[in-house]
Amino acid sequence: MQNNDTIIALATPQGVGAIGVIRLSGPESIKLTNQVFKGKNLEAQESHTIHFGTIRDGEKILDEVLISLFIAPKSFTKENVVEISCHGSNFIIRQIIQLLIRKGARPAKPGEFTKRAFMHGQFDLAQAEAVADLINADSEASHHTALNQMRGGFSGEIKRLREELIHFASMIELELDFGEEDVEFASRDDLKDLVNKLLKVVNALIHSFDLGNVIKNGVPTVIAGKPNAGKSTLLNALLKEEKAIVSDIAGTTRDFIEDEIIIGGVAFRFIDTAGLRETTDAIEKIGVERTQAKMKTASMIIYLFDLSQVDVVEMNKEINVLENTGVPFLKVGNKLDKVKESFVEQLQKQHPDMLFLSANEPEQVELLKDRILELVNLDKFKRGDTVVTNIRHYDSLLQTKNSLDAVIEGIDNMVSNDFVAMDIRQALHYLGEITGEITTDDLLANIFSKFCIGK
Ligand code: GDP
Repeated sequence: MQNNDTIIALATPQGVGAIGVIRLSGPESIKLTNQVFKGKNLEAQESHTIHFGTIRDGEKILDEVLISLFIAPKSFTKENVVEISCHGSNFIIRQIIQLLIRKGARPAKPGEFTKRAFMHGQFDLAQAEAVADLINADSEASHHTALNQMRGGFSGEIKRLREELIHFASMIELELDFGEEDVEFASRDDLKDLVNKLLKVVNALIHSFDLGNVIKNGVPTVIAGKPNAGKSTLLNALLKEEKAIVSDIAGTTRDFIEDEIIIGGVAFRFIDTAGLRETTDAIEKIGVERTQAKMKTASMIIYLFDLSQVDVVEMNKEINVLENTGVPFLKVGNKLDKVKESFVEQLQKQHPDMLFLSANEPEQVELLKDRILELVNLDKFKRGDTVVTNIRHYDSLLQTKNSLDAVIEGIDNMVSNDFVAMDIRQALHYLGEITGEITTDDLLANIFSKFCIGK
């Protein structure tokens, strides 16, 4: 696909900065810039060179700038690209963009630069989506997965699987051409082996989504415990800011609190601590089910016990509730400074996995961070396995799995080749949707509309 028009947008964030970068892409970008640039003839310069000069509207100098040139196809979009580095004032930026629009450029739509790069085969769709993720990544882990994805990690695996399957599809379709004759080009045992192999990979990718989602959006974490156990104090210590209101009066923290901390390169998102307390307050009153339902929305629970108020029967009841959630949890005995050592030793015998600390002692809270990291199982991520972070890919993988299951069922029940071939085609379709070998205008519009203008 060839774009005949030249697009323009600010590539750096809106607002005042030291430098603003305006980007143009399209066949006319160098020619148009040359019309307003005074310094040298940009059309006579080589690719990947930088030029100092002024941008002028008639005789009026708008700014002193640096122009970077990228001549097609050696650019991000594989079109002629010009980047104008000007002073980062909104006024200057607006003036320069308006001037170039008057000369014939068109304002870029959201994600249009990345879309052009995709259209010209710079990368596949999954990689284009990773560009957006990379820009939004705010922790080491999410940066790592997005970068890995952009370099083709995940797409490579999908493409390889798809090619193997295409081979089988064509063999079976060849058999169909022979109609009544009893020929078998594709051994059903081999096909089943391949499909099972594919299912194994597809299932692993599907499972990786939980982890991927967590890496991208932060591990949803709940801090729970009875009123006055020290939840706000602990949250504050973790956030190292007075975000939550600490009070002696039980139940004063009613405001919605949500914040994020990064531990060991992984983001943890604390969800609705106050709201959860309302339900833990009422373990007996409202019943265990509602409490559990609320806790189940988390990937991890940090449960606080006030050591100065321990009631063993009550404690066991609370632990039982925690166990029934099925969510990994960490038992924390808080207010260590308020109780005798012998008491702690006794409790430790009964609960060897309980962490004892004082939420108002920063060094002790550091110990908690290590335990938090241990609890979320990120081994998989550390090994550098492929991780799915995109809901669209997840959806296509689920559909692929359904089609592959149908292929196996078809072979086992010896259904006619037409049906087996159809299920294989379906699986190929869904796999192709991920990397963009199969696309529709709607799908593309939907994906790229999520980008900002200038990306
Ligand atoms: P929440 O109701 O669970 O959020 O409890 P808060 O964080 O509001 O704490 C209740 C009270 O316990 C406050 O007065 C805190 O200062 C106090 N507190 C919290 N953690 C500790 C601790 O480790 N040691 C002591 N001595 N007091 C604590």
